[in-house]
Amino acid sequence: MTKKPDNKKSALHISKGKANSSNINQNFKYKRRKDLGVDDYIAGLLAGDRVILGRAISLVESQQAKDQLKAQQIIEKCLPYSGNSLRIGLTGTPGVGKSTFIDCFGQEILQAGHRLAVLAIDPSSQLTKGSILGDKTRMQQLSVHPKVFVRPSPAGASLGGVARKTRETVILCETAGFDAIVIETVGVGQSETAVHSMVDFFLLLLLPNAGDELQGIKRGVMEMADLIAINKADGDNITAAKLAKKQCRNGLHLFPPKPSDWVATAETCSALEGKGLDKIWQHIQAYRRQTTINGYFQEHRKQQAKYWMEESINEQLKSLFMSHPSIQQQFKAIEQQVIEGKISPFRAAENLIALFKGP
Ligand code: GDP
Repeated sequence: MTKKPDNKKSALHISKGKANSSNINQNFKYKRRKDLGVDDYIAGLLAGDRVILGRAISLVESQQAKDQLKAQQIIEKCLPYSGNSLRIGLTGTPGVGKSTFIDCFGQEILQAGHRLAVLAIDPSSQLTKGSILGDKTRMQQLSVHPKVFVRPSPAGASLGGVARKTRETVILCETAGFDAIVIETVGVGQSETAVHSMVDFFLLLLLPNAGDELQGIKRGVMEMADLIAINKADGDNITAAKLAKKQCRNGLHLFPPKPSDWVATAETCSALEGKGLDKIWQHIQAYRRQTTINGYFQEHRKQQAKYWMEESINEQLKSLFMSHPSIQQQFKAIEQQVIEGKISPFRAAENLIALFKGP
């Protein structure tokens, strides 16, 4: 029988150690959370401090009016420093390989000398508590890279709310020096449209059985794509993937020309084996060159800013309307009358708006 080690003598013995010295936080650069002012945030962001970036994003995501006010002040001060990035949107159904793709494709982006931020819009996160990017095991290579910042989808009452928060997060990330931003969304509902309206380049991932999948994929999503990548083009899938690429290229020809004059195409890749990703990066760079020369890149950004102003007005007006005391009191009853066919939806809306406007 082996003798039980004498803990006191063993190297494994945990000594009581010294008490923490009082100056342990002497070098802590920033004030405590409650003391952080707008200028502290700006200084931290400009220094590329990811802790400050995380905190600033939390302010943007907060529901509290006090935080919202501070977030808006920060965003405003960030605007002059923002805009200097390449914003890439990525969509595809769950399981198509988005996170595997980003994990591997991110290396191409990093090799080109960029700092990369990966954000997400996941409208289902209400129910799943963040299915997208929620899992720490996703993007294992990237999430530990010092030049990469990964942020899960914000939770929000509506897609509009989630999208606004993501757009503001882009501004914060750019101020913190991240000059390549990938915004991922799961291919459900309107989230693709939201992502498309905040990125420069829109990439759609499909599976090698795209022929079948194209039936399910909405025409509008395919039309938005600047590039379709048929992922999982490896092993037994190679032939099917090549066929899918051909079908997609044919399908893309049927759409009217894009305002960018960019001709969308399809490629195959394997995120798992890291194949074909360089070609995808080349397409993105070619897009940036072409649209910068023809002025579309800048013009598109301006149009997007206008769109977001309008969206923001819609969101804010609706929230103002719904939180009005008379509306809160009457809404359900009037809605019920509409359901029962007692009054028309238009008359109901008129009545509610009259209540909102007051006497
Ligand atoms: P997401 O839901 O779109 O983010 O998809 P994931 O990245 O989580 O991938 C779903 C599954 O597909 C995982 O089991 C991956 O290992 C696998 N997968 C992803 N990319 C490839 C690929 O290029 N080839 C193959 N064979 N499998 C892949």
